Amino acid sequence: MFNYTAPNDLLKERIILVTGAGDGIGRATALAYAKTGATVILLGRTEAKLDAVYDEIEAAGGAQPAIIPMDLDSATEPDYIELSNTLFDTFGRLDGVVHNAGVLGARTSIENYDPITWEKVMRINLTAPFIMTQTLLPLLRRSEDASIIFTSSGVGRKGRAYWGAYAVSKFATEGLMQTLADEIENEPNLRVNAINPGGTRTPMRAYAYPAEDPFKLPTPEEIQPAYLFLMGPDSKQVNGQSIDAQGDMSASQL
Ligand code: NAP
Repeated sequence: MFNYTAPNDLLKERIILVTGAGDGIGRATALAYAKTGATVILLGRTEAKLDAVYDEIEAAGGAQPAIIPMDLDSATEPDYIELSNTLFDTFGRLDGVVHNAGVLGARTSIENYDPITWEKVMRINLTAPFIMTQTLLPLLRRSEDASIIFTSSGVGRKGRAYWGAYAVSKFATEGLMQTLADEIENEPNLRVNAINPGGTRTPMRAYAYPAEDPFKLPTPEEIQPAYLFLMGPDSKQVNGQSIDAQGDMSASQL
């Protein structure tokens, strides 16, 4: 596991948006950020799941979160502008974004891949984080220490048969992160990196590997050190990196 121990108040007074915050890794990330002091903006498509995470944060004594229901499949540019305006009016700035929401799409060959499904996967996994980042950059630039985290995958680094649009969207996510990182490299208060969670016990993983014993996999809570490190001030100098949440690396090596 990525080796980093976060201080209890790592994200005190930070305002952080997490997409896909209602379930799986996004839920655990939102809870971990709230536990270390952040005000978390919970964005996702199923409001009941976001409400449940909101209640958990409040019950644990965390700062009052915000909920933004948004379907990244159907959202258009005006929706992103409205999101940015709402965040500006409510908070005045943004200290971090975790682009976590994603879908698996079809597990089939490129030869047989349905183009409609292809476009849907690309829209949710790649185009939505692109437009959201573009729209939120002015708000992130109002922070003294802003961090953008994209979510990659092992199949986004080496192609694997039958992972289709999902694998291609994750390759492109790495490319988007690297391109943006190069563009902002002279901005000391802004950084962008990616995390490959590795096989993690979530609904998406269970869907991808129905025969696997989920109890052999780490939980979303267990992979949080990488998410905490890249969001907090200890990674202020880290830009353009793609790290493995379950890798052997330690924060001090970056
Ligand atoms: P998950 O359990 O399926 O959760 C995905 C989250 O994304 C859910 O909260 C889901 O909302 C949300 N989402 C999906 N489509 C959306 C849309 N159109 N609009 C808004 N929100 C949407 O998946 P996970 O395993 O936690 O995966 C999180 C990220 O890690 C993904 O980017 C995934 O590719 C990546 N990843 C996961 C693994 C793994 O082993 N789990 C490995 C490598 C990479 P609903 O709950 O409402 O559906």
